[in-house]
Formats: sequence, structure tokens, C-alpha cells
Amino acid sequence: METLKHLYNWQKDLPETETMPALFIGHGSPMNAIEDNIFVQNWRKLAQNIPKPTAILVISAHWETQGTKVTAMEKPRTIHDFGGFPRALFEVQYPAKGDPELAAYIKEALKHFAVVELDQLWGLDHGNWSVVKHLYPNADIPVLQLSLDYSKPAEYHYNLAKELQILRKKGVLIIGSGNMVHNLRMVSWENMLEPGFGYDWALDINDKMKQYISEDNHLALINYQNFGIEGKYAIPTPEHYMPLIYTLALKDKNDKVSFLNDIPIGGSLTMTSVVIDSK
Ligand code: ZN
Repeated sequence: METLKHLYNWQKDLPETETMPALFIGHGSPMNAIEDNIFVQNWRKLAQNIPKPTAILVISAHWETQGTKVTAMEKPRTIHDFGGFPRALFEVQYPAKGDPELAAYIKEALKHFAVVELDQLWGLDHGNWSVVKHLYPNADIPVLQLSLDYSKPAEYHYNLAKELQILRKKGVLIIGSGNMVHNLRMVSWENMLEPGFGYDWALDINDKMKQYISEDNHLALINYQNFGIEGKYAIPTPEHYMPLIYTLALKDKNDKVSFLNDIPIGGSLTMTSVVIDSK
């Protein structure tokens, strides 16, 4: 009976808060987790200018699954899902708690759209902790992840994310973590150390995406396969782009949009990030 009651009242279970912003963060290299650079400095400033969330839900480019999953464990592990980096990066731990109740709430919120699996195996991957560590260094806010169903197109992800809008009024900070322009094969590695270098095509498509975002032309962004050759370079695979689609879907029509870290690096990556806020 207790379970039934819980399910029945699920919309009342979490108290209303002021509306939280929704973020898309260009996460770039895992090294940002342990470096002090312009990107992470801007992340820190951003966190200081938004209300402290009751929980954080991250849609990371680095968790693709068949179907949709949400992390539902009490203590998510810090996943070091990369190779060839210094030991210091592998030693990073981000000991934020999970929030199994919120995971159940999310499963319920999405039930008309997808059968969401409560996951006990994943944790926090670097698309998550390399960013959230700078936003909330004390790891004192529960952090969850929602996976990306790789079998589904952008329109599906956009519609699914709309069902998460309610969480913005429940104190949950939703972060899409990827990169708008992300082509590792074309990276100019000697230009990875100093931010600021972007190939012409990368700058052009980055500007085009920003224009569509500013104009609320979400349909053009959902139909990214029509971006032409620049789009094919920028989005060779969809996983780093799709978290942007989640963040855009969370926008109310009166919300304001601003950009952060609108800086290319290594020629074929941009760190451009999007802040959607009701204020
Ligand atoms: Zn990544």
C-alpha cells in the first residue's frame, strides 16, 4: 500500500522551488577536471550565480544505452572512462550521493514516454564529474545521470526531455554535457593547450547553432542532419550533440538564453555552453 500511495502522490512528493535554470555545458577534455583554465573558471562563476539545487541530473555524452536508464544507487562511483591521461586524473573522486527517490520520481515522470530502467551499475562518468566538480566542489548535492538511448533520433530525445521540465520547479539542476562542435579525428593537437583556435567550418557551424538557439529555432537544431558538410564535420556522431537537445527542450517560452565559454579549442571543438534561465 505504501508503494501505491507513493506512486499516486508522486507529483506532490517534491516541494516546489523557484524555477531552476537548465544548462548545456561543453565539457571538452577530461583534463578540465584538474586544470585551472578559463573554462573551469567560468563554470565556477556560473554556479555562484544560480540558486543552489536540491539535486543535479546530468545527461552526459558518455552514457549511451539501448533504452533509457537513470542512476538509482545511493552512492554512485566516479567512473574514469578514458585512457592515456595522467595518474592525477584517475585519482579524482567525486563522492556526491545519489538519490534513489528522485530516480523513482524521474522514472514515473517519464512513464508515458519511455520505460526507464533504475540503474545500479553506472555512476558518474567524466562528462558529469569533470564539470560538476567545479560547479559544486564540496560534492554536497546528490547527482544522478540519465542515459542517452542511442537507437533514437533527436526528435525523440527532445520530446522525452520536455517531460523533465517539471524538475526545474523541484529544485533540480539539469545539465546536458557534451560539445556542440566535436570532431576528435580532426583535432589539431598542438592547438589543444591554448584555447582560441577553431577551423573556419567549426566557427561557422558554431555561429549557426548559436543563431538557431537564440531564435528558439529548435526544429532546425533537431534536424541537424540538414546542416550540410560543416554539420557532418561538427557532429560526426550524435552523442556529444544530443545533450544540447535535452537542454533546449527544457526552455519555457519566456526563458532567456545566454552563452558561456563560446571559445573553440584544437580547431575542431567548441566549448560553447548554453544557460537557459527564467530571470
Ligand atoms: Zn566528451
